[in-house]
Amino acid sequence: MRITKEQFKTDFRQRVQEKFTNEVEEASNGELFASLGAVIQAYYSDEWKETRKATRDDKCKQAYYFSIEFLPGRMLKSNLLNMGLLDIVRDSLKELDIDLEELCKIEKDMALGNGGLGRLASCFMDSIASSSLPGNGNGIRYDYGLFKQKFVDGNQVELPDEWLREGNVWEVRKASKAVNVNYGGHVYLKEDEAGRLKPVYENQQVLRAVPYDTGMVGFQNDMVNTLRLWSAEIPDFEESNYRSIEERRDFRDLTSVLYPDDSNYEGRLMRLVQEYFFVSAGIQSIIRSHKKSGLAMKDLAEYIAIHINDTHPALCVPELMRLLIDEENLSWEKAWDITVKTMSYTNHTIMAEALEKWPVFMLQEVVPRIFQIIEEIDRRFVAEMTSLVDQEVIERTRIIKDNQVHMAHLAIIGSHSTNGVAKLHSDLLKGIVLHDFYVLYPERFNNKTNGIAQRRWLQLANEPLAGFLDQTIGTSWRKEANDLHLLMNYKNDSTVLQTLADTKRLNKVRLAQYILETTGIEVSPDAIFDVQIKRLHAYKRQLLNLLHILKLYFDLKADPNADIYPRVFIFGAKAAPSYTYAKYVIKCINEAADLINHDEEIQGKLKIVFLENYNVSLAEMIIPAADVSEQISLASKEASGTSNMKLMLNGAVTIATLDGANIEIRDVVGDENIVIFGLTEEEVYHYYETQNYQAIKIYETDSELQRILNAFIDGTIPNIQVEGQEIFDSLIRYNDEYFTLRDYHSYVEAQEKIERLYRDKKRWQQISLINTAEAGHFSSDYTVRRYAEEIWQIEPVKG
Ligand SMILES: *Cc1c(COP(=O)(O)O)cnc(C)c1O
Repeated sequence: MRITKEQFKTDFRQRVQEKFTNEVEEASNGELFASLGAVIQAYYSDEWKETRKATRDDKCKQAYYFSIEFLPGRMLKSNLLNMGLLDIVRDSLKELDIDLEELCKIEKDMALGNGGLGRLASCFMDSIASSSLPGNGNGIRYDYGLFKQKFVDGNQVELPDEWLREGNVWEVRKASKAVNVNYGGHVYLKEDEAGRLKPVYENQQVLRAVPYDTGMVGFQNDMVNTLRLWSAEIPDFEESNYRSIEERRDFRDLTSVLYPDDSNYEGRLMRLVQEYFFVSAGIQSIIRSHKKSGLAMKDLAEYIAIHINDTHPALCVPELMRLLIDEENLSWEKAWDITVKTMSYTNHTIMAEALEKWPVFMLQEVVPRIFQIIEEIDRRFVAEMTSLVDQEVIERTRIIKDNQVHMAHLAIIGSHSTNGVAKLHSDLLKGIVLHDFYVLYPERFNNKTNGIAQRRWLQLANEPLAGFLDQTIGTSWRKEANDLHLLMNYKNDSTVLQTLADTKRLNKVRLAQYILETTGIEVSPDAIFDVQIKRLHAYKRQLLNLLHILKLYFDLKADPNADIYPRVFIFGAKAAPSYTYAKYVIKCINEAADLINHDEEIQGKLKIVFLENYNVSLAEMIIPAADVSEQISLASKEASGTSNMKLMLNGAVTIATLDGANIEIRDVVGDENIVIFGLTEEEVYHYYETQNYQAIKIYETDSELQRILNAFIDGTIPNIQVEGQEIFDSLIRYNDEYFTLRDYHSYVEAQEKIERLYRDKKRWQQISLINTAEAGHFSSDYTVRRYAEEIWQIEPVKG
């Protein structure tokens, strides 16, 4: 995009004038931000229109990424960067005496997701557009995003995230593209004139689904795709049917809140309605535009790929079937063939508590016709398999059993591709969790290791490092992340190593400043910044991190002059509001922090900082400042992880179990440039088989761990009578489900190794350089290109 400074300043002044009848010099930051957003949006509106037109005219195949969560964070800088306007706008604003960074802070994070799953969807949106691929997102426009987290006396308190209060400059409401979504009521089948069985509906509820479109701007390639988010409204002609205010509110409330749960399945009715709502609206809108292009329904799979991101959009399968057979009059067989060819599915977890299953009665109540179709899919699956495999296999793989609908089974049976998100995860799916399906459909299974958008996580988040890379290895890495590898030529260049270290220090100073301002805690940028940022979950084992911190603390208490390298332990994590155990861990970390941070005896050698309200913007601040990346989940439990990739890209050294994508990180950097510890996935499964893990034995025989665990129940850590006891019990009485105690000593040794490496400045700098140099491997640009070629069969749009 070519705009001169003069042109920009004129447009900007004019926009402030039109929008707020104000002068730039008089306007508030809020007004300036809104005006700037509007100018930028107008600048890409042509490309947006042209992208739509090009895909329509060329009739090229398009992908639609259905996800119940998207987590883009702030978009101003990302749009400026991708449009190639970041420097021009920054400089022009400076000439107007305006600081771009200050305006950026006005923007509320778009937090329509819980964590990794939603963030992945957003990295994919960036990478799809930046790779000139025709791919769009489809999701829900929640009025309230993920709750805002505050700590009160060390406890998590949740406040509503009113992200839309000042409006959203990026979205465009497309009332003319609204569709109706029907649900509830009763249905029966009746023959029509042509002798076909057609559903007859009674007492259905009707919702108007209104799309809000947001441009997904590609990186300097004039491509703008669409993220379409649906909002529920009451249709005009139905308004009289909803008499009471309460009733009306119930309908609008449908898309009001994001369920704040991560890695845990909540079977609430409203959530099921949400799932059907955005699936039905999205598929209706795809079919409408397919028909408008004059294409035949029978050819749908040649023009459309629909991706089911985790099982939440799995109703895509029966909904497409419904539209094809009930509305388009296709035969079941033809419709099924099209559906399977169109759909693909990504599995994100192997944890039983996260696998979605809906009671039959709920589906009958919310989507009676869809349930009939699921029953028929299930019936045909059983019939087809009966001649091929044992009855037990069928019982394990069918969609409906024990009065529950298994959404993963529906997604696998109804699609042509099922992928895991890291090599180990995909192998576990094939070998154990979905083994029966793998035997039935081996050709459907594949791996697509997750990735991250290097634009947001390096170019934007770490401008000092990005600028230095430009000077050292040229700028090609900005388009081709693998070119970061050129940095390897400098791994023995002490000037480059030192400059990289200086850059890291700059980022640490900035984070230390933020820590001081937000928490009042003073931390030294010369200490090791040891970072664990991710949702709070037992399997991620923030508790293991805390046990190690307590060990260091007791070592220092025993000998205040103990030679322990100063460390700042930085946490960022939200707990699901209903996840009591996770909230107890937060409370314990906060109380331990209070104790340790204020203990003068240890001379400030240890600091614990738990930053409130972890979100994308906070991640962008923490990650460039991290020395150590904590990736310490129990092996086999973290499907991939992506913060491991973001931290590596920014030169942090990983301490990790052999879990998820950590394994692939080790493979690319080599054993000597990562610190691995803990049980392997095989050892974990071996314990499951033999059932001979006894945490209490470890406690009884290990005086070091005894001292640490007792601190949770003997008052050493103050104010955790209830929480400390619960944590203690989870480890000892309930046998430590995630093998925290089993991995403890191995973890401590790994931490000692980290400290040794850090003391060897040259060595550490070199490891850090190698991590950045090899991180191009995990660019989501490559991930989405593999999806495009191997699953969606879509091609870049020619400019
Ligand atoms: C990357 C990211 C995550 C995922 O972190 P993991 O450690 O992979 O679980 C979660 N939340 C935010 C805000 C992120 O940016």
